Amino acid sequence: MKFHDAHCHISRKSFLKEFEITTSMEEWREMGLEYVIGVSTKLSDSMKIVEMQSSYKEIIPGIGIHPWSAKKPLTEEIKSQFLNLTKLCDVLVIGEIGLDHHFIKKEERYPHQVETFKFFLELAEKDKYPVNIHLKGAEKEGAEILDSYKFPSNNVLIHWYSGPEEVLKKFLDRGYFFSINPSILSGSPHIQILKEVPYERILTESDGDVSYHINGEKIIGSPSIIPETLKKISKMKKETVEEVALQLQANLRKYVNKLQR
Ligand SMILES: [Zn+2]
Repeated sequence: MKFHDAHCHISRKSFLKEFEITTSMEEWREMGLEYVIGVSTKLSDSMKIVEMQSSYKEIIPGIGIHPWSAKKPLTEEIKSQFLNLTKLCDVLVIGEIGLDHHFIKKEERYPHQVETFKFFLELAEKDKYPVNIHLKGAEKEGAEILDSYKFPSNNVLIHWYSGPEEVLKKFLDRGYFFSINPSILSGSPHIQILKEVPYERILTESDGDVSYHINGEKIIGSPSIIPETLKKISKMKKETVEEVALQLQANLRKYVNKLQR
């Protein structure tokens, strides 16, 4: 069975401290890992993931600035460094980008979140990159911003969605993808979206190195948690794991439509 991890902070310092990447990649590959989208939160991990992709064929690099890191206006220097990174990759995802009014309470930061989000959306729209989006406590605002761009709907992925029902419906109407997070293994309300999102629109993610408490055990997120997540999805969808895994392989290729294999 092949699987993917559509949202993992594989180039983050704390992740690389936890996992010796060459050994871990070998283990994940043996488990069936086909692709991992290594999303970033700022320039340094974006640079690192672009460097790492040349060593591991499983890595799809994701570059961007997370709304938690959007604390000040973007400088021309930062913008051009991100633009340069795009030139180094054949296949690229823009993310993790978005808005967060839930964990970030300081409203003076919100305009910087919007400016940063829009900068990356413009970049993605212009060069047709898939986007990997974080919206927390600002789902409506995010949906409005997304409305003003012309992305092919298959190139938009909403990660770990837990927002209002009406925005979920709107995103479903638009044809977006949703990545399902391992928190569904520990009774998170995130599991609700599985009831509404058809499995033709689902991808799987670990959001590593976020940790989870599953059956009294602390598990640090990484691609190795995906097979369990897939089993749970197959139970919910009343399909065999093999069938779900095959569908998800096809979904990933629709989302990142420049993949060569
Ligand atoms: Zn993340």
